[in-house]
Amino acid sequence: MSSENWRTATRLLHEAPNRTEFGETSEALFLTSGFVYDSAEQAAATFTGDVQHFQYSRFGNPTVDTLQERLALLEGAEACVATATGMGAVSSAILSTVKAGDRVVASRAIFGSCYWIVTNLLPRYGIETELVDGTDYDAWERALSKPTAAVLIESPSNPMLDVLDIARVAELTHKAGGLLIVDNVFATPLGQSPLKLGADVIVYSCTKHIDGQGRVLGGAVLGSSKWISETLQPFTRNTGNALSPFNAWVLLKGLETLQLRTDAMARNAAAVADALAELPGIVQVRYPGRADHPQHELAKTQMNNGGSMVAFVVDRGREGAFAFMNAFKIIAISNNLGDARSLATHPATTTHMRVSEEERARLGITDGAIRLSVGLEDPADLIDDLKRGAAAVAALA
Ligand SMILES: *Cc1c(COP(=O)(O)O)cnc(C)c1O
Repeated sequence: MSSENWRTATRLLHEAPNRTEFGETSEALFLTSGFVYDSAEQAAATFTGDVQHFQYSRFGNPTVDTLQERLALLEGAEACVATATGMGAVSSAILSTVKAGDRVVASRAIFGSCYWIVTNLLPRYGIETELVDGTDYDAWERALSKPTAAVLIESPSNPMLDVLDIARVAELTHKAGGLLIVDNVFATPLGQSPLKLGADVIVYSCTKHIDGQGRVLGGAVLGSSKWISETLQPFTRNTGNALSPFNAWVLLKGLETLQLRTDAMARNAAAVADALAELPGIVQVRYPGRADHPQHELAKTQMNNGGSMVAFVVDRGREGAFAFMNAFKIIAISNNLGDARSLATHPATTTHMRVSEEERARLGITDGAIRLSVGLEDPADLIDDLKRGAAAVAALA
């Protein structure tokens, strides 16, 4: 069971084994809602906690447990709870930790539904919230000069890929008495380790790179055993945010190839970002792995690679961006990301359409901005597709 000195590629396959007496190669899929007891005494002892026995899949399931254990060991976290979706992970992490009268601070550039939770949902429950420009550390100091229960950040951020100094925000959060929750979806568990930088909790949408093949929704929350067992788990168990065992099993299959996929995607993204920078009609390229990214030096210390996401701005605003995307033959138009297939999004009219125009301007989400999730295709074919996009914009003139 001990795997202290295994390397990541090995851990993704062999960590937290859970083989039954049948000796199956692949993890068993326990597609069951409930469990039975040998006796009334055993049932009673299970409920008092004197006997370890599964009770009900909303509380625990062997396939889901294997995924949780493997993710925790991979991340170097003490504990993990898998959830039905990534938003299930984010909402449970925040709501389990705060109460009326508390204060929550978040970086402004966060995933659309996270933004809704912070700006809409939390205030309804009497929680004061404040948004901060994630790369303005004077603003962080001001916002965290008051007692704060929780801070939520995303780095690299969605969609324009700002890189935030996780260690610096962690220090300020702890001074304010709070818990730092990092949404690590864009970086992936292999690309960045927020716990090592001082974060307290990591949340994932496993829907993205961990599945990575467009099949299932899932989420995960990782943190200390104490916080998970005393704060998060009572909340998730009683509010019903459980991951389906089937989805857990698919995600375990996804983990087996996670390193292969994320390494190749980062290599492809770097090639695509460099090619984009040379194309006519591209006003700006944002990729943390490029020297012209405003936080490139920080990204180099905090991330293991530049990631699989590239943002860029096309000339001629929305008309240009639409013409660019409509010319693609390979890259699909989709708001999803982290997939084996390359996907492009126009944030201003889709994922961020509900964000006010003023707020979009602050986030750098102009009408010409496109977010590209780079997949596993041959990068030369992707670059040909981007050339088709650039030619379509040039033809508008
Ligand atoms: C997709 C995503 C989420 C939400 O995950 P779901 O699985 O769709 O619920 C949260 N944060 C980020 C950064 C995401 O990309």
